[in-house]
Amino acid sequence: MPDHKIPQVTAKRLPLYYRYLEKLHAIGKQRVSSADLSDALQIDPATIRRDFSYLGELGKKGYGYNVTYLLQFLRDFLKQDEVTNVVLVGVGNLGTALLRYNFYRSHNTKIVAGFDQDPAKIGTDVDGIPVYSLDRLQEVIQLHHVEVAILTVPVNAAQSTADFLVKAGIRGILNFTPARLIAPAHVRIHNIDLTIELQTLIYFLKNFPDGEEEM
Ligand code: ATP
Repeated sequence: MPDHKIPQVTAKRLPLYYRYLEKLHAIGKQRVSSADLSDALQIDPATIRRDFSYLGELGKKGYGYNVTYLLQFLRDFLKQDEVTNVVLVGVGNLGTALLRYNFYRSHNTKIVAGFDQDPAKIGTDVDGIPVYSLDRLQEVIQLHHVEVAILTVPVNAAQSTADFLVKAGIRGILNFTPARLIAPAHVRIHNIDLTIELQTLIYFLKNFPDGEEEM
């Protein structure tokens, strides 16, 4: 894949190219020139050539572009740009901080909703991200195609909440609780225990102040 950073104006035109190439593909057309694309889409040919040049070596001079190849290429390229929607359960101190942390700015990941059992929190929002009761989990994850959940409930609620998430269709859990969760094999769990990480760091500083570790 070429460099992912392409100008925004180009990125906006890619779906237009994609749709038109799908049409060409459907009628069995195998090649298309930038002039043909230009006529059909009302974008000048130089712009089209420049757009495509950001994507890498896609066409030969005088030959035009191979429709199937270009279509596949754009499909993969646009997929990279898809946003992965995530939910968070347990809108306490840590949960709220993570909702406020804008994952989306630097990565294509977005927390679409928070969930909590506290009636005082249900129906509120954190920086525009709504907080719902877990009754609405299924509906929200279906609507936003969510497969990943961040878990920031208290440790004693961790396993039952994880079970509930798995039942609803969640396949990945980022577990911030100290609980070691049990889940079916198809579910991936990543553990981030901030307390342990901090304690481990302090332990190493105290016991190996010069940086060398015992083998
Ligand atoms: P706070 O001060 O807001 O309570 P906290 O991080 O100290 O934050 P915790 O006791 O760790 O609070 O709980 C984190 C959040 O998880 C709270 O908002 C709590 O209401 C919520 N919570 C607790 N049990 C559940 C549960 N079973 N399902 C969903 N959310 C829960």
